[in-house]
Amino acid sequence: MKTEWIKKAPENVSVRPNLMDYEKAYHAFKWEDVALQFQGLPSGGLNIAHEAIDRHANGALAEKNALVWLGADGERREYTFAQMKQESARFANVLQSLGVGKGDRVFTLTTRLPEFYIAAIGIFKNCSVLCPLFAQFGPEPILQRMKKGDAKALLTTRAIFEKKVRPLLDELPELQTVILIDAPEDESGKIRSLSALMAQASDLFEIAPTDPEDMSILHFTSGTTGMPKGVVHVHKAIYMHWMSGKYVLDMHPDDIYWCTADPGWVTGTSYGIIAPWLHGITNIVNEAEFDAKRWYEILQNEKVTIWYTAPTAIRRLMRLELDPLREYDLANLRLVHSVGEPLNPEAVVWGVEKLGLPIHDNWWQTETGGIMIANFASQPIQLGSMGLPLLGVEAVIINHDSSSGVFEMAKTGQKGELAIKPGWPSMFRGYLHEEERYQKSFINGWYLTGDLAYKDEYGYFWFIGRADDIIKTSGHMVGPFEVESTLMEHPAVAEAGVIGKPDPVAGEVVKAFIALKAGFKPSEELRKELIGFGRQKLGAAVAPKEIEFQSDLPKTRSGKIMRRLLKAREMGLPEGDISTLEH
Ligand code: AMP
Repeated sequence: MKTEWIKKAPENVSVRPNLMDYEKAYHAFKWEDVALQFQGLPSGGLNIAHEAIDRHANGALAEKNALVWLGADGERREYTFAQMKQESARFANVLQSLGVGKGDRVFTLTTRLPEFYIAAIGIFKNCSVLCPLFAQFGPEPILQRMKKGDAKALLTTRAIFEKKVRPLLDELPELQTVILIDAPEDESGKIRSLSALMAQASDLFEIAPTDPEDMSILHFTSGTTGMPKGVVHVHKAIYMHWMSGKYVLDMHPDDIYWCTADPGWVTGTSYGIIAPWLHGITNIVNEAEFDAKRWYEILQNEKVTIWYTAPTAIRRLMRLELDPLREYDLANLRLVHSVGEPLNPEAVVWGVEKLGLPIHDNWWQTETGGIMIANFASQPIQLGSMGLPLLGVEAVIINHDSSSGVFEMAKTGQKGELAIKPGWPSMFRGYLHEEERYQKSFINGWYLTGDLAYKDEYGYFWFIGRADDIIKTSGHMVGPFEVESTLMEHPAVAEAGVIGKPDPVAGEVVKAFIALKAGFKPSEELRKELIGFGRQKLGAAVAPKEIEFQSDLPKTRSGKIMRRLLKAREMGLPEGDISTLEH
């Protein structure tokens, strides 16, 4: 067990004093207190759009920027809370005029355009369900998801529509309307122009009473095998978004916040739309894809104070020979968080050296709807650990085996499956149309996350791997992350993906796929050096026996290394569902 700590938050992090004593805050915490933060709808109930936008627009924050949009072509647009209220009201009226109502699924297939953010709030206002898809999906994953989600309407752009959706229309009989963001005029009764519809719509909209349990968002998650699952979320999830915005992301009224995630992934909705606006803070949206220089410029020019990103992006920044602290003015930046994959200790240290701040890891998943485990700004960071459970979240490690009936809580330091006590407000309420699959996620009153982890004597959680990624080699259980992290300590290694390769003697042997940093070339010498490096650091039982160089590792669109795909390719097996593979 590693116990390397980064002792305290840097000077300029204004921490929440009540979390300085985490233990005390954890035990005193009550969800009822969070309920007091919300205004509630005048018509009754709780609606995301009202709490995130309208109540600020009706109050002191009306003229404050809610959204600062940075277009891929260099354009910059600002939208105040008042404008967001009006524009989203228009969009809600558009939906009404199209006969799209409560519970109806509205899909979106666009890059991060302002119209998407306006539509998202409008969809919540109309009590319809937002179903955001990655714009880069090809026709097959689009069709699968829209069918499964019973798509009634779709918001997209002309180019995406022509290329990917028009050929599918016959297979989507339930789809009543396609709204094209950039079409000047309606094409037909079915294919409509957003601007024409918005021009006719009123900017006043009274939100109907909304039950906190009404469905708000449907996200699709791939899983390792089989068809993607439709993960159902509800309006009440804002309790978790508000609370984690305050205690993990440490949002204060004057913050400028940037979340780099695309809304096709849950981070891009929970924390790319909802959490910052619940706190009434300015949300930066960058339309363009990753570009290191542009990213540093955004941090500098927009004076970003809180930055929420992902290990894949951090690793890409680490690959380059830029020195952001020297080359850019990052004085405003005070907190950096990361989610989505294990954050290698190397990356946390890189943050300290190159950004002047440690990077705080946190853990959650599509099903949990919000952050569950985190390294709080006010707490020491334990390098390589995911952190401590959030207030109101009960996380445990359990050992279970349905065939033998074993079910027990793991002891400190003992590996097992990470499980969470149901009842946190942003918990998924089901897999759409798959009740049995949903029920299988629970055992003896606990939600099973599918991740292996352990808890140390300080109460910090450590990620080992997805249960289905674990390697069994000569009787040892090896978590790929541990091996990847070690390999990344070598100066030549930019990324590593580790799998178990079937072996007649050992069961499996550890094999590593490695992408090198700029300036390094694959060679037999380097391969041997890396094998030796692994042995020396990890011991012969755990170190990779085989190393293969690749210029880039296959990743999901949300940036996770696809070990499952590396393994299928290695073994010449079918690649399974690769709809989320980034090309
Ligand atoms: P998704 O539902 O696509 O967001 O994926 C969730 C999964 O990503 C989790 O179950 C973990 O396997 C992984 N994950 C997310 N955050 C972390 C983290 N901080 N450390 C390790 N794994 C993570």
